[in-house]
Amino acid sequence: MPKFKKNDKFKFNEEDVKILDILGEGGQGIVYLAEYEGKQMALKVYSDLVSSDFEYNLKNNINKGAPSDSFLWPQKLIHFDDDKIGYLMDLRPSNYSSFVKYLNGNIRFKDNYTLISWCIELCKSFKQLHEKGFSYQDLNDGSFFLDENTGSLLICDNDNVTADRKNLGILGKMRYMAPEIVRREINPITNEAWMPDVHTDRFSLAIILFMALCLGNPFEGECLKKYEFIDEKAELEIYGKNPVFIYHKDNKDNRPIRGYHSAVLKRWPLLPIYVKEAFHRTFVDGLDDRENKRTTELEWIKVLTRYRDELVTCECGKQYIYGLFEKKENSSCPYCNKKKQAYTYLYINKQSIILEPEKKLYISHFDKYSSDYTKAVGIVVRNKKNPALWGIKMAIGKQILVKDTQGVQKEIDGNGVIPIVKGLKIKIGETIAEIR
Ligand SMILES: [Zn+2]
Repeated sequence: MPKFKKNDKFKFNEEDVKILDILGEGGQGIVYLAEYEGKQMALKVYSDLVSSDFEYNLKNNINKGAPSDSFLWPQKLIHFDDDKIGYLMDLRPSNYSSFVKYLNGNIRFKDNYTLISWCIELCKSFKQLHEKGFSYQDLNDGSFFLDENTGSLLICDNDNVTADRKNLGILGKMRYMAPEIVRREINPITNEAWMPDVHTDRFSLAIILFMALCLGNPFEGECLKKYEFIDEKAELEIYGKNPVFIYHKDNKDNRPIRGYHSAVLKRWPLLPIYVKEAFHRTFVDGLDDRENKRTTELEWIKVLTRYRDELVTCECGKQYIYGLFEKKENSSCPYCNKKKQAYTYLYINKQSIILEPEKKLYISHFDKYSSDYTKAVGIVVRNKKNPALWGIKMAIGKQILVKDTQGVQKEIDGNGVIPIVKGLKIKIGETIAEIR
């Protein structure tokens, strides 16, 4: 029974809150569309009385504030007369679709570049969340939203976020939980059952990334055939007692099933080796070594940035990896088999960034000590008068020196355009780069 109906009003901080509609109903409560201080917001009201721990945690999260703009964070805690509580938060903008919709094939990212950018945003958000001393504890497909055209991310359902190593009884959702949680195993140091924390978050993050990139679950392969139906006992086996990564290098017992796991079979081979290794580390070595072998957010950001750097766009419109790392320089497009055209790339600090219109360069490319992988300081543009001429429009604020193959030197303003010409040597501060 909903607490409110349309046009109901109540007072909060001496201001009216007006109920405009019901947005959704879940296990925990109801989310309403409400108007407060002249602004439309979402109002979540818990159906049952919550524990004082839960309320304290929610209040604490509101006071600490969102780790970044990607989190749809609780903003104002409300007490109702019947001792129930709720909170106000921003509305999810209409350009965002659910990750579930993407997994079901109902929407697609504009291209691979956008998909990988979304994955990087996800890792960055969890890095910020963990740095603020929180863990999410309940990562699952329902928590994430995406803009398929820009790759921007929104993280919802932040009620269960808590200070790391604190737990309010939420264990997570099957298929996304770390195996020690599924097994309800005892932590030998504390003598209590393992509870969700930063390390279980990392395991779940890798599952979400795998699902985003491969459209399948990393532990669902041939083993599914052993069960008539997937009940609790089967789940305990598959995700807890005996999880076998479907692309385990040595144990081939749980490979994806042909005709059933088609998306995974098609997508996994197209991933660069360093991304595959990051998954393998987490899903094989990280099953037991929870603290050292689960790929961290920063490690993910590094490998995914590299993946994005290496993407080339084929004439057929698809994007794939150029294969610089694997030294497969004569590789052809895996989608249309066309041999690759000539591509130019920027070689800088041992990184190779394919130069194509709209490709972005980040501060981390230029400064090897920087861990800011999301601040763009350059973008590849076409010359307005002659679109065949490309350049890198910079916004780095440092003098740039370039020298062409004839030895002619030129100074370029820190906000100027570096022409994309093979053999051009570039000096920015102490960093040397070359267009190859
Ligand atoms: Zn192609």
